[in-house]
Amino acid sequence: MNATMSDRKECLACGKVVHGRADKKFCNDYCRNEYNNKLKSATSSLVRTINNTLLKNRRILEITLGEEEMKKTTKERFLQQGFQSKYITHTYVNKKGDTYFFCYEYGYLPLENDWFLVVKRKQD
Ligand SMILES: [Zn+2]
Repeated sequence: MNATMSDRKECLACGKVVHGRADKKFCNDYCRNEYNNKLKSATSSLVRTINNTLLKNRRILEITLGEEEMKKTTKERFLQQGFQSKYITHTYVNKKGDTYFFCYEYGYLPLENDWFLVVKRKQD
């Protein structure tokens, strides 16, 4: 019984044709390491960027709220400060069905006419 020839395979790191076992993905250990390191650093830089954005959002909410328990602000002011609403850590739905968007312990509730209510999560 003949094993079916697999398609020509290319090294995931350098793109050269790989010879040998069908499951072989790299020319050699050097290419394997190159590939894995690149992957790892791309992942960690993505994670770092998102973490920084979340922390910046948190800081903006913290500054907006100050010592108050809740405070209204406008979408425009949020955007001026560099707030990026797509980066949040979680949401919270209250009994009325309102959805709050949180960055760590600080959150906001979108109100009518582009107003936002900023809150801080109480310790339980
Ligand atoms: Zn290679």
